[in-house]
Amino acid sequence: MNLIMLGAPGAGKGTQAKRLSDKYEIPHISTGDIFRANIKAQTELGVKAKSYMDQGLLVPDELVVDLVADRLKQDDCVKGFILDGFPRTLVQADSLDKALSAMDAKIDAAVDVDVPDEDIIKRMAGRRACISCGSTYHLQYLKPAVEGVCDRCSDKLVLRVDDEPETVKKRLLVYHEQTQPLIEYYTKKGSLVKVDGTLDIPTITIAILKHLSK
Ligand code: ADP
Ligand code: ADP
Ligand code: ZN
Repeated sequence: MNLIMLGAPGAGKGTQAKRLSDKYEIPHISTGDIFRANIKAQTELGVKAKSYMDQGLLVPDELVVDLVADRLKQDDCVKGFILDGFPRTLVQADSLDKALSAMDAKIDAAVDVDVPDEDIIKRMAGRRACISCGSTYHLQYLKPAVEGVCDRCSDKLVLRVDDEPETVKKRLLVYHEQTQPLIEYYTKKGSLVKVDGTLDIPTITIAILKHLSK
């Protein structure tokens, strides 16, 4: 199963991707997590990406396209993959199609987790993210077993710098301008699956699984 998660920042892509990854036993590949790992390790890529991410802007296409194409060639992707946060531009979507067709593969579904901007702004203030594995929690909707500690890896939970309200507003603008056109792109290809992202977390997973089993 080769899946893409679409949706605004904070729509719940990562939350659903992790649940689908457990269910289908295929890797959850988050380009945001890859960039944050590079920032932490102070790699050249991390240094370049950080300046864009902190401002709520997209990292340039050329820094992300080859990185994802290489990742999809790794052994753990033989049964499939879930891309979360990629593609985010039409250029990226096009390059992904080319990389996949060179591997004789294609996207089975692009899942659009749909949440209105007003809900996103409210929701993001309560998001807390693990500094190590990227798992996200919520102060109200998805509490970890121990406050401030990641259930998966026991590392610390923090408010990401780019989750400050002003940066979230900027990221939403960027989303509508650069990423939303992908909804039409995948609709035309017949691979779009739209789910209501304002429902509760398990209900959304059930809705996605129902679509995918059709
Ligand atoms: P969210 O989960 O809130 O949608 P991500 O963790 O996916 O955020 O991404 C955080 C930031 O990393 C983005 O705002 C952007 O700067 C950068 N980024 C992640 N994926 C991409 C991508 N495919 N293209 C360009 N920039 C990206
Ligand atoms: P994305 O990967 O799209 O940026 P996340 O999966 O990190 O989004 O979710 C954003 C925030 O909203 C997190 O704090 C997460 O715990 C919370 N969240 C995710 N799905 C829901 C939902 N259906 N209802 C309420 N809160 C949610
Ligand atoms: Zn963790």
